[in-house]
Amino acid sequence: MIDLVEARRLLLAACPPLEPVPLPSAEADGCVLAADVVAPGDVPPFDNSSVDGYAVRAADLAGASEAAPVRLAVLGSVLAGTVADRPVGPGQAWKVMTGAPVPAGADAVVMVERTSATRTEQLGAAGDQVEVRAEVAEGAGIRRAGSDVPAGELVLLAGTVLRPAHLGVLASVGARRITGYRRLRVGVLVTGDELVTAGDLRPGQIYESNRAMLLALLARANCVPVDLGVAADDVPALRQRLSAAVRDCDAVLTCGGVSMGDSDPVRAALEEFGGLTWLQVAIRPAKPFAFGTLPGPEGPVPVLGLPGNPVSALVSFELLARPALRHRMGHPDPYPSEVLAIADAPLSRPHGDGRTAYLRVGCRFGPDGRLHVRPVAGQDSHQLSASASAGGLAQVADGQQVNAGDEVSVLLLS
Ligand code: AMP
Ligand code: MG
Repeated sequence: MIDLVEARRLLLAACPPLEPVPLPSAEADGCVLAADVVAPGDVPPFDNSSVDGYAVRAADLAGASEAAPVRLAVLGSVLAGTVADRPVGPGQAWKVMTGAPVPAGADAVVMVERTSATRTEQLGAAGDQVEVRAEVAEGAGIRRAGSDVPAGELVLLAGTVLRPAHLGVLASVGARRITGYRRLRVGVLVTGDELVTAGDLRPGQIYESNRAMLLALLARANCVPVDLGVAADDVPALRQRLSAAVRDCDAVLTCGGVSMGDSDPVRAALEEFGGLTWLQVAIRPAKPFAFGTLPGPEGPVPVLGLPGNPVSALVSFELLARPALRHRMGHPDPYPSEVLAIADAPLSRPHGDGRTAYLRVGCRFGPDGRLHVRPVAGQDSHQLSASASAGGLAQVADGQQVNAGDEVSVLLLS
């Protein structure tokens, strides 16, 4: 057996990052930037109004109050997307809408709420007058050019995992394309003579259940899932399916057939390709894991062999496959987030096996602001229905006792 840290080191080495490519930034949510992004110009590009109101010379309003309003001549109205054709002179104002460029000569914008237009239509047309009932500080109501991002600033660093707001930032600086890591196309091939996908079950058969789960996990991991179907426990057939898969995929997950059974064909197939690493990882569940690489059109394609027990498949995806795929997509920190939580019930596990248990736990935040966990009922590796509601994996080392009220380290499931 090897520990999880060592298993990950071996696995990630077999899953090197893809070459960065140009990507449309609007489609890059969840992708990792491979090059810094520098703003070519100011954001906002010009001084503009942060309110609906009147662009004025602040000095004109010295002493203005409810009791002693100051009357200004309105030159017209500037909407967002238009520009004033004349500067503001003494005793004058432009009506401006939020986002409109502040006309030359103005040094503040007074909110419309502090004013009353004297004409009934209040359109802010030339010839109108406005009464201002308050003083205004110089600079008030103006968003300066470059106050969000100054020209030349490093807006996003290489290694950033792009989130929706980042896509907005990229658009705001006019960066329509970025250099980044594209989504991986990841195939899922499940194996087992006992697995049925439709129709009634005959004796000894079960419904295949891991493929839907793994395809959905991949979609949430920002990969493009590719359903490769169900393969029989037959080594030559499996070899052929894998050879075909790597022509079209950046990585392939298999499920089942990697343990010590008499018909564990994934192990055998990868072994015949010559690139098998077969691991007994010191974790519970999901001890067996196999991986290898097959030659693809653009270089070696990793094939990751997950165990078939449904909970083992889930746990080995989270602890091994997901970090490996994230590494291949350029993530600087591919591992799940770990937090210290409070156990609300004892977290029991068998002892003496030398493995770290990853107990599936329900998670909730308590009134103390801490994350509280309790084990789901049904911790066996075939009991997927119990694990389905788990929000985290509590790490309990061999020999470690976790009683109610104790702190325990929890990996959050995304
Ligand atoms: P294996 O890893 O192939 O030895 O399978 C371990 C256990 O998981 C066996 O009970 C299988 O029937 C079950 N199993 C394997 N693959 C699947 C699957 N895709 N869906 C549901 N159960 C599976
Ligand atoms: Mg099997």
